[in-house]
Amino acid sequence: MKFELLHPAEQIVMIMERIYGYGMTTTSGGNISIMDENGDIWITPSGIDKGSLKPDDIVLVRSNGEIVGKHKPSVELPFHEVIYRSRPDIKAIIHAHPPAIMAFSLARKIPNTKLILNVHLVCGEVELVDYALPGSTALGQKIADAFKRGINTAVLANHGIVVGAENLFKAFMAFETLDFCAQLEIRARAIGNPKALRPKDLEISKAKQDIKMDEFIPKIFSSFERQARKRICELIHRAYDQRLFTSTQGTFSQRLNENSFIITPYMVDRKYIEVEDIVRIENGYKEAGKRPSRSVLLHKYIYEKHPDVNAIIIAHPPNIMAFAVTDNEFDSKTIPETYIQLRNVKKIPFGSTFMQPKMTADVFSKQTPAVIVENDCVIVVGKDLLDAFDKLEVLEFTAKAMIDAKNLGEVMLISQEEIEEIEKAFKL
Ligand code: 13P
Ligand code: ZN
Repeated sequence: MKFELLHPAEQIVMIMERIYGYGMTTTSGGNISIMDENGDIWITPSGIDKGSLKPDDIVLVRSNGEIVGKHKPSVELPFHEVIYRSRPDIKAIIHAHPPAIMAFSLARKIPNTKLILNVHLVCGEVELVDYALPGSTALGQKIADAFKRGINTAVLANHGIVVGAENLFKAFMAFETLDFCAQLEIRARAIGNPKALRPKDLEISKAKQDIKMDEFIPKIFSSFERQARKRICELIHRAYDQRLFTSTQGTFSQRLNENSFIITPYMVDRKYIEVEDIVRIENGYKEAGKRPSRSVLLHKYIYEKHPDVNAIIIAHPPNIMAFAVTDNEFDSKTIPETYIQLRNVKKIPFGSTFMQPKMTADVFSKQTPAVIVENDCVIVVGKDLLDAFDKLEVLEFTAKAMIDAKNLGEVMLISQEEIEEIEKAFKL
């Protein structure tokens, strides 16, 4: 889907639907605007149900000040206008009160965007803006001062978040990513001391940025591949809707045969990913004109090394990532399902996936189908897509339960004898 070709009112409705649907705003909270090529602003109406907006609810504020539409524009129109005036490169703005960001805004802190890779690139520098009355010019001035310093993402003290970007999808990505960072840091602090990436780590990660691969033009698409592409898209949409993926992070791949597999592309919105976006890799070549995930070599080595692995998922859900950014060990001996599905989850150092992809591929075995990479991601392998997807869900749900259990008391694990009994009964 070409989001950028949609009318501004439709783009605003789609993004508000997403924000509301994922619990990142309430019926009354938040507003979104787009400035179009005429300098006109399309903005959400004030006080109208954010969970059921239609394109004709969106208000047009012309550059000459004329207001067109059936509702009043958002009370925050003054700060939207002042941001557009002070930053001509910004063409879309999102404001909302997602609970995890609200927590930071109440503590008057900003989430650490350097706990995992790439997040800092998406969110840029984030600033805390002092409190001022909603809808007031004072609030507009304070936000504009931060934006004039080049800030695109601000946490508003005792209020919420404002993000500006060159288009609405980029603003949404930064918004969603900062919300993810906030959730991750809150969970990580519940179990330990989160460690941030060092400048040196960020430097070595540049090695990951560009994967050079020769291209081939596919002549045929087998029925098996067509079915696998459809299945991969269905599960990616499911992973996105379950918040296991963000719009641009989260990778799936599926083996086609001994020398080819299909994989998700780099930076394509996971919510609307379609079969034609998926990239085939064959004999180390990539499908012409497409950009596969930058983890493509790791997938290739895992498939080469493990003939019984037919699907791989790389993801960053916030609960399991809390174990990736702290020294806390994830122990699967929690409930029988977790032990049966995940066995011995290993944690490996940051950088392994792109500095030593072959060695990383060696870590997997029947006893280790899931690996946590410090400050980076989790990788799960399975006999098919659903098996890998289930393992990812089990990993994230168990991590959430372990974090929540710490609030209730000491976490009790299944004993060694009980584990042996499970191994025998389930022929592990
Ligand atoms: P509006 O409904 O007027 O946009 O107000 C919501 C809000 O979040 C104010 O800060
Ligand atoms: Zn608000």
